[in-house]
Amino acid sequence: MENKYYLSHEEMPRFYYNIMADMPNKPLPPLHPGTREPITPDLLEPLFPKDLILQEVSAERFIEIPKEVRDIYALWRPSPLFRARALEKHLDTPARIFYKYEGVSPAGSHKPNTAVAQAFYNKISGVKRIVTETGAGQWGTALAYGCQLFGLECEVYMVRVSYDQKPYRKVMMNTFGGKVYPSPSDRTEFGKKVLGEDPGSSGSLGIAISEAIERAASDPEAHYALGSVLNHVLLHQTIIGQEAILQMEKAGHMPDLVVAPFGGGSNFAGIAFPFLHLNFTKGQNIRCIAVEPTSCPKLTQGKFMYDFGDTAGMTPLLPMYTLGHDFMPSAIHAGGLRYHGAGVLVSQLLKDNLIEAVAQNQERCFAAGLDFIKTEGIIPAPEATHAIATVIDEAIRCREEGTAKNILFNLCGHGYFDMGAYEDYMDGKLTDAVPEKQVMEDSIRSLEMLQPK
Ligand SMILES: *Cc1c(COP(=O)(O)O)cnc(C)c1O
Repeated sequence: MENKYYLSHEEMPRFYYNIMADMPNKPLPPLHPGTREPITPDLLEPLFPKDLILQEVSAERFIEIPKEVRDIYALWRPSPLFRARALEKHLDTPARIFYKYEGVSPAGSHKPNTAVAQAFYNKISGVKRIVTETGAGQWGTALAYGCQLFGLECEVYMVRVSYDQKPYRKVMMNTFGGKVYPSPSDRTEFGKKVLGEDPGSSGSLGIAISEAIERAASDPEAHYALGSVLNHVLLHQTIIGQEAILQMEKAGHMPDLVVAPFGGGSNFAGIAFPFLHLNFTKGQNIRCIAVEPTSCPKLTQGKFMYDFGDTAGMTPLLPMYTLGHDFMPSAIHAGGLRYHGAGVLVSQLLKDNLIEAVAQNQERCFAAGLDFIKTEGIIPAPEATHAIATVIDEAIRCREEGTAKNILFNLCGHGYFDMGAYEDYMDGKLTDAVPEKQVMEDSIRSLEMLQPK
């Protein structure tokens, strides 16, 4: 019984798929926070290389993957696709469950797909270093890896509390040549200001973003990079879904359902957008479901509004589902899903009912993760367990209804650096703070003054 589907190097996709070309309603433009007029691409030039800015606004359907990038992808791509037969059996479901495994990459997640591409475009633009922020460390690790390949320096501002709690993530970034600083730091004016007010500050992603942007903007030899949310980041991840289509064809079972966890939208977009392309152009009706944590439910309980991409309010205003940039989710272990907003492309698709969203709570996700470990033998990243919980729900529904659906999900990363999280779950120490309605409503209401007239 076949349960592994590999592709040869020759079968690796040569183009990224740009969903902008096929969307029935194009996203609204990003706005300048001061004038609230659409921003012009040149405003982004101090922070990003031209090629990435062009990709950010492109409506071209297929964009060629540079040969230099494809040669590096070849180290771990095409990534394998598995059929989870043991999980099916455990659930006693007639559903067929498949998963695309991105944990085989050097950083252990899908993030190197964009990190390598971003490092390449930055290299040919002539800069010497890239500055970024990282929360739990997955993005910082991927970017450090990408930078080292192209001889770029990588400077990472890591949220102080993670820096102290997850020392091995820092060491991993160091092994890839990255320089890691706890944020807030005394290397920026903003960091010094925060430390002046609160010397013991444990930091936040918002503070780290502000520090990274300040460093990049004040250094002509540096650019800034983001690991999710932006259109070009989602674009680079579409290699995942394109490979998955070829692999599902080999398996002889195209999916009825595609499921992925949702932080800013990049791994969801990566697997789902190429299948949406089949919906748009081949009349298929594949359901794509994004799964977020109940502690940070921007897709299911947030509002579609203009909001800042960061907490400090330094980015352009983006039209997206959001809980408000001041919203502070509780400290769940799926750190990659604690973002207040959702990428612009995914937000527009959800608004147009072309994709679906559900929320899962943390305990349920870890329980689903253990079911997966027991049957399939891979320890999933806490983020990925959100997809697994939804897949199990759907597979049980298939059993009850007696329907044999094909379900595909993105196992976007392994959890081998997250033993502390699994330990807390098994020791019964997890708490799952679901935000109060009032807190979310207040945070969203504060956005009203940011909306264009
Ligand atoms: C960063 C990360 C996420 C969340 O980000 P997306 O852009 O929504 O994919 C999810 N899973 C893993 C393993 C991550 O590293």
